[in-house]
Amino acid sequence: MIYYRELNLDRASEPRKNALWVEQQWTRQHCRVFVLHSDKSLMRWRDDDLTSAEAIHLPQSHVSHLVEEIEQLVFMGLDEHGPLFALDVSHHSDEHLQSLLGASDGDFIDLRDVAWQIDAQQAAQLAYARGLLFWNRHHRFCGLCGSTTHSEYGGHMRRCGNSSCGRMHFPRTDPAVIMLVEDCSDPARPRCLLARNSRFPNRMMSTLAGFVDPLESLEETVEREVFEECGIRVDRIQYQASQPWPFPSSIMLGFRARAVTLDIVVDGVEIEEAHWFDAEQLRSFGEWGDGGDNYSLPRPDSIARYLVESWLQDVQKN
Ligand SMILES: [Zn+2]
Repeated sequence: MIYYRELNLDRASEPRKNALWVEQQWTRQHCRVFVLHSDKSLMRWRDDDLTSAEAIHLPQSHVSHLVEEIEQLVFMGLDEHGPLFALDVSHHSDEHLQSLLGASDGDFIDLRDVAWQIDAQQAAQLAYARGLLFWNRHHRFCGLCGSTTHSEYGGHMRRCGNSSCGRMHFPRTDPAVIMLVEDCSDPARPRCLLARNSRFPNRMMSTLAGFVDPLESLEETVEREVFEECGIRVDRIQYQASQPWPFPSSIMLGFRARAVTLDIVVDGVEIEEAHWFDAEQLRSFGEWGDGGDNYSLPRPDSIARYLVESWLQDVQKN
């Protein structure tokens, strides 16, 4: 499964350009609101063991007093029950936040720590809300003239307030490639290349990844990143799947590639270690977050995990 995909919302891309229409959605009876604070979402645990959580969306009437300016709000879309908005309370006082938390029986939780413990559709909705609010928070000034911008289109466009500029700014999505490199030189024992980035927690190993440079095809990025990070040359680069990754603003484009050379040379800075692993070794990996000395798999919500698991399935078949 690939998380954060298949958001089941009518984004109402055309109607949301009309401020009056957005205002009408905000005051509709069944309008619901996701509340986020500094990228964390209001959620509650469903059990004492902290194994299952749920997103909290509040009726508009419960949070309207927290809306000081329309800039804090983003219109997300319409589902079968009505409109959904996201509200950013990052700048609210502790007093306000405590009353909100007390009334909702919830807490601000990082979606990335619990995505596989909540409903998949809720995970997609919260990821979408987080990405949009992050973009609005980080684009308060025009990149061209430095004047302040203001939110329009229900939070999906920011216009420069300088009348001689007036530039329209839209959310951007940065493409990044992520690839599972396989060694097929011994058909009886295929292996895949996994590496440990210096930023990874504990002993997690993952596939290689990197951002697309200007004027680079996706295949060229795969070739360059694998060579830069591990000194391996690849061919037979095949697209697998993609994953929206609004942390803060990417899309991950998943590939599989065949190694042409096998000697690993890591840079020792970004990549601390990298090794070839066969299927049996991979199955002995621990679960992400378990701790201990064992190597662990990538986070369950990442497309890296999907690439590893689908490779294992394919290897098992053959
Ligand atoms: Zn401007």
